[in-house]
Amino acid sequence: MMPSLSPFQRSQYIMDGGEHCPFCGSGDMTWSIDEFVIVEGRTVVDHKCSKCASEWTDVFQLVNILDPLEPEEDE
Ligand SMILES: [Zn+2]
Repeated sequence: MMPSLSPFQRSQYIMDGGEHCPFCGSGDMTWSIDEFVIVEGRTVVDHKCSKCASEWTDVFQLVNILDPLEPEEDE
């Protein structure tokens, strides 16, 4: 069974923008975008660290919407 994160590890990970493994601090991780699922109005994304093989799940909430982005023009 995977170790569970402490409240400190969770807040560090979120303050860091989720860019590093919450267990070992490595920036080398994979996330499965094609496994986006909506759970009670939240989007969850599975992550796995390539260095220490820990797994966790990010939870996203809708916070804003934007106008459609202008298509980039070729230069
Ligand atoms: Zn790790």
